[in-house]
Amino acid sequence: MTNKIFYGAGDNARKNLARWIKEIGEPVCFADMDSRKRGKCFSDSPGLETSRGGGYEVTSLADAIDRYPDYELWLTLAPVNLLSATEQLIERGVPKERIRYCEDVEYRRGCRLLGEYIFLTVDSIKPCCTQYGKVIPYADKVHSEESVRHCIGEFRQWLNKTLALMRTDAETDCDNCSLLKWGYYSKTSSIKLLNAGSGFANTICNCRCIYCSQSETAFKGSDQILDGYEIHCILSDEFGAAIEFVCLTDGEITVLPHRDKLLNLIIEKGWSAMVATNALLYNDDVAAILSTQFSVLNVSLDAGTAETYHKVKGVNAFSKVVSNLERYAETKGRIELKYILLPGLNDNFDDVNGFIKIAVSLKAYRVYLSRASLNGLSNTARISEPTGSTTSITEQEYAMYAYFVARCKEVGLPVYYVAEFFITSDCLRMSNLCEGI
Ligand code: SF4
Ligand code: SF4
Repeated sequence: MTNKIFYGAGDNARKNLARWIKEIGEPVCFADMDSRKRGKCFSDSPGLETSRGGGYEVTSLADAIDRYPDYELWLTLAPVNLLSATEQLIERGVPKERIRYCEDVEYRRGCRLLGEYIFLTVDSIKPCCTQYGKVIPYADKVHSEESVRHCIGEFRQWLNKTLALMRTDAETDCDNCSLLKWGYYSKTSSIKLLNAGSGFANTICNCRCIYCSQSETAFKGSDQILDGYEIHCILSDEFGAAIEFVCLTDGEITVLPHRDKLLNLIIEKGWSAMVATNALLYNDDVAAILSTQFSVLNVSLDAGTAETYHKVKGVNAFSKVVSNLERYAETKGRIELKYILLPGLNDNFDDVNGFIKIAVSLKAYRVYLSRASLNGLSNTARISEPTGSTTSITEQEYAMYAYFVARCKEVGLPVYYVAEFFITSDCLRMSNLCEGI
């Protein structure tokens, strides 16, 4: 029997390994390009039952091939990464016929979100959070369970039609998006990632971020009938057991009237979550979610000094936020810190270095560089010359991004940029600096 080497000892393998072992069989070992993972035993995968001493050795590709010359290389990476990984492996001399994919994938156009993600905003459902994503509005401005379910039905129809078009060269609603690429993607669509914002809950945020894209509802409240808990119950009913991950963004979870019910629902269902919070308030349930394996806390700190934080976030709470982040860090969970570069406000060395110092002391899982969304910046006149995600970055901005990334690399902080906020040509420049998400 051929020896199966699983390539990639990361989160995607952790999430799916038990299923793959049933479908494909056991690997003899893992290979990974990241030398920090090598020499370790890959065993922290939920539901894992293995005949190999409780886990699988992680080694280099060369070593794995040397030990098992009669091998098949099974790629465990998320579909969006499969094409580039395949190309790199072929360049390194792995014959194409030895490369296999753990998921059932096909070659077509797509992105990391299309077919797996649903984004519910206050007035519409979208396949992603970019400005290019198709907008499917609710029939009623103040929506009910019926209007949300109806809109989900329309979303499903749009998705099926669009996925069929992605197998061809035909025009699609995604055509101008910088994330749309040919590659290997799942053959079947299964909504695993939910993003239903807290704007549903008639909540007024306790922050006043200068770039808030939800300021209409975040600063004034909304008259929606359904709250975030009810919306998540509907989504749970519609998409069932496939759901793996919930993003709590577009609003501040810790001030939601129904936050306890919503956070407990996430805990009960065993969903992992990305909890976007301004961290002005510490919440025990958020800390409990953060302690679970794949969950993350995402905080847009955007500053490294109290003065700039006040200007950007509209509240004088820098030290309170840093102290709450220190409490969350005690869970040993994953903390992501974001830096939305705002020309004239936080594009200076003091803020960048102050931010990086905080990220290091929190042992941040990773940091993100981003831009303000066009929608958000158009809501404010407080930035003198607003740039938006449809415009190119200036040379001055690029220089500061480059400095930021170089400093992160110097101190060993993984750094990414949020590709949906950069136009295609800037994505290429940013990719040369760091990884995109
Ligand atoms: S608009 Fe872009 S990010 Fe959104 S679904 Fe289409 S390709 Fe993906
Ligand atoms: S914390 Fe979020 S919802 Fe609140 S103002 Fe800032 S961006 Fe808007």
